[in-house]
Amino acid sequence: MKIALAGIGKIALDQHVPAIAASPDWELAATISRHGRVDGVEAFTGITDMLAARPDIATVSLCLPPVPRFEVAQAVLQAGRNLMLEKPPGATLAEVHILQDMAHAKGVSLYATWHSRMAHAVAAARAWLAGKTIHEGRIIWREDVRKWHPGQDWIFEAGGMGVFDPGINALSILTEILPQPVHLTGADLDFPDNRQAPIAARLSLSGNITADLDFRQEGPQTWDMEFQTDAGRLALRMGGNLLEVDGEPSGGADSIMGEYPALYARMAELVQQGQSECDLSPMVLVSDAFTLGRRMTVEPFEF
Ligand code: NAP
Repeated sequence: MKIALAGIGKIALDQHVPAIAASPDWELAATISRHGRVDGVEAFTGITDMLAARPDIATVSLCLPPVPRFEVAQAVLQAGRNLMLEKPPGATLAEVHILQDMAHAKGVSLYATWHSRMAHAVAAARAWLAGKTIHEGRIIWREDVRKWHPGQDWIFEAGGMGVFDPGINALSILTEILPQPVHLTGADLDFPDNRQAPIAARLSLSGNITADLDFRQEGPQTWDMEFQTDAGRLALRMGGNLLEVDGEPSGGADSIMGEYPALYARMAELVQQGQSECDLSPMVLVSDAFTLGRRMTVEPFEF
């Protein structure tokens, strides 16, 4: 099946292009980007031109940052094409509800991806936690924004989500593996004096779960979560890729390779079956943190 990729920047080049190239299901038939290109692939600078010129491309995958994404997403669905969205699926929940309704009305597939849910140990963690009672949970998601998002000022603009850009990955795993729904009960958000989005956040969630998200971590990076249950301790490390049970390694693989090929395989399934998948529960937690969170001002941040 032919697919077009929009927003040829960091994640498109690091993950999407190689995943599509290796996929038995997809052929990268066009790109839409003002500056980015992929060698040997027809390049457009605007979505409208691509949709008019290439009626043979039935699916479009968007890798734009969240704020400019909605207009492009609407154009894709309006043209009756299937739509795949990088996380987070929009800048606001209302936008994504509109996309869901449009996809339904047009009879096309909408896939709001959560790449961290495809990490090696997530399915095993979900299976282990099923039926257990969780007494306490702790998420620690601390990374260096300068290393992973060099110069990406959009991430600290309104709608860029700040530390929730990586933090929503942790929340996407949490909402996938917990045996019961979870909701936000409180948050402290640290906003740099010169920015519109938080650089750190401390969340309290139902079920005695906390999350410590920080974009200022230098040295070793931490993407861990730990749960104390009525039947032992589970830990997921390395962004959901390594599983530990009662302190002992219990499966997974120390690599993020595999998440994006799994997303494109799932998109192929959804298109072939005429279905959609759009779980907004990670984004509800982020949205509620902005609604309920106490705002602290911290020192200015420059890349
Ligand atoms: P990026 O490189 O800054 O942006 C991707 C491309 O989007 C840019 O190259 C640019 O292409 C276009 N773009 C940027 N700002 C725009 C604007 N205001 N209006 C229109 N187009 C704009 O960002 P990224 O790191 O790839 O992240 C994109 C999405 O992927 C985000 O939602 C992020 O959460 C998600 N993601 C990122 C990572 C990561 O490690 N970076 C990992 C997983 C998921 P043109 O200038 O060529 O149009």
